[in-house]
Amino acid sequence: MPYIALNSKDEEVTASQCRDEFLRTGEVLSGFRCAFCLCAYHPRYIYINGMIGRTPHFFVKGEKHNGRCDGNPLGVVAETVSGTQGKRIPDDNFCFPEKLVARAKPRVVASLPDGEKLVLSDEEIRSRRLRAGKEYGSTTFTSSLLEVIVESKNKISTWCYSQSRKQKLTKEAEKKLLKETASSYPLQLFDQKGLTYESAFWNAHYERTKTDKRIFQAKGGTVTVSSSGFVISSQPSAPSNGGNESKKAVPRPVEVHYHRESYDSNTPPQAHVKALAELANVAAGETIQWYAYGEMRLHEDKLIIRVETLDHLYFRKEKKFTPRKAS
Ligand SMILES: [Zn+2]
Repeated sequence: MPYIALNSKDEEVTASQCRDEFLRTGEVLSGFRCAFCLCAYHPRYIYINGMIGRTPHFFVKGEKHNGRCDGNPLGVVAETVSGTQGKRIPDDNFCFPEKLVARAKPRVVASLPDGEKLVLSDEEIRSRRLRAGKEYGSTTFTSSLLEVIVESKNKISTWCYSQSRKQKLTKEAEKKLLKETASSYPLQLFDQKGLTYESAFWNAHYERTKTDKRIFQAKGGTVTVSSSGFVISSQPSAPSNGGNESKKAVPRPVEVHYHRESYDSNTPPQAHVKALAELANVAAGETIQWYAYGEMRLHEDKLIIRVETLDHLYFRKEKKFTPRKAS
């Protein structure tokens, strides 16, 4: 499945990168070509909203790759994949990003002559594919947006809940299915390898003694917006009285802190403008469920998570439950 292309500006891009930029800025590019043999490419699962579980990629239509090219890099060294096989959603096309990565800038390749269609030699095509194999590795689906990762996790959970209903599972068995299925999908967080869609997530009310970053999650967040950023606060629900409280970790209040970030063009992408506007609109009495990627630290009795970019925050308003009037 080809995922590396040249765009109309002769920049080398990946399908995942184009998808992220579409979600961040609404940017839709065309005029893609194979990065190795230059045949025309078309995007699939890139410029489309709400498509979760499908790998963004390029394809050829009515044309063929030149020479011995098939659009894929050569000499790719396979990485050891974390996660256990077996408890996967039984659909081969059902794929999720395997890495949360830094937002990549398009790679500018040597500009190609204008005008006449350039034909590359077999040797040149081969060396381009080998270079890409070294540079990109074996992961074809990545994302720099937490939203894409969280929605993938939600898709896994939704599938598990539907299975649970079909098979009439007990709560305990349902929990086990959720855990085993999420554990079978690898998810590298920047340089942290060996994690999965289960272990990369962490309940934000519990302290992490290590400083390695995780995707923290909590509900019931209230928002305080300032001129330089915002704070989201969530209170833990009362700990269950299992009788063994002294041995259990204590749930604590947690806060997400964000301060303005800098942008190359000084203009925030539309997704960030929208997120800030939505947070500012969380009215008194309303709450959000949130996910934040960052490092956690304990400050007095409160846990603090600092988010460096809005690409690493994802939230949605929670439904309000209005108590029914007694009749
Ligand atoms: Zn090609």
